[in-house]
Order: sequence, then structure tokens, then C-alpha cells
Amino acid sequence: MLNTGKPGLPPPGPSKKTIYIARFHDTQYHGPGRKFSIVTELDEVSFMPEWAKLPTTDPYIDGIVDALTPDVQLWKNYLSGAIPWQSFREKYSQVVSSTPLYHGTLMARLTDGSEIIVDDGDTLLCVCTKAKADDMRCHRAWAAYWLRGCNWRVMIDGRQLR
Ligand SMILES: [Zn+2]
Repeated sequence: MLNTGKPGLPPPGPSKKTIYIARFHDTQYHGPGRKFSIVTELDEVSFMPEWAKLPTTDPYIDGIVDALTPDVQLWKNYLSGAIPWQSFREKYSQVVSSTPLYHGTLMARLTDGSEIIVDDGDTLLCVCTKAKADDMRCHRAWAAYWLRGCNWRVMIDGRQLR
């Protein structure tokens, strides 16, 4: 709502930007803005568990947020079962938790290679099931907390992260 400065309205000030985080498949939880992947694209997917595969019809995306996308080898090791999710979390956290994820610094790379800021209403997408995210065994769930810590209003899987 626009703040007109009338009595009864909240004082003027920077309003929080909203970022949506969801599974590719759960389009009902996507925001009104652009859609960015936070999963590494792999050429070879035979070892991937069923839940980690993209929807059968290729989902539409505007680009990828490299800062929140796991390293290729780390993602492969996790999905193939070579390392447990705890190790995945530890290694992923080491990199991402020290990266500034504020509005204005969080960048997305579009399919044409150009970089733009991630903005109010945009959505970050990953493949893990909602059960995994609810259980804190998914990198979008970890990223949600870091993003909240960087002043975003975070909507994850349809509800606001408090
Ligand atoms: Zn995930």
C-alpha cells in the first residue's frame, strides 16, 4: 500500500522486498516476478533420484542465481548419495552464508548472459520436495534464512518465514 503520510498509516521508510522460494513444480507458490533457478544444471542425470528431476515439461525460467546455486561437484556428490545431506549443507553453507544476499547485491544471470538484480516479487526455484524443505534438508530452506537475515521478506513454499 502506498504511504501517503496520512494519520493511521505506518511511518515512511524503506519497505521490505519480498522474495519467493519454492519448488519448480509448485507453481502456486511462485511469486509474480521473474523465476530464477538455484540448482546446478547437470548433463548426466541417470544417478539422480526421482525427486531431484525437473518437471517432465521443462519449466520456464528467466535465469539462474549463481550465488545460491551449489557447486556442480558438490551437487553431484549429494544427489548420487556419495555424501550425506549434512555434508552438503556444511560445504554449501561455508560459501553462501558469507555472501551478501541483500536487495541490490543479489544478482541473477539471465539466459542471454546479462546480469540483473533479483527484485521484489522474484522467485528462486529448486527441485527438492516440500517435505524435504519443511525438514530443513534442502538448500532453498537454508537459503531462506540467510535471505531473511539480509532483510528480505521471505515467502517459502507459500508461507512467510517468520
Ligand atoms: Zn533443494
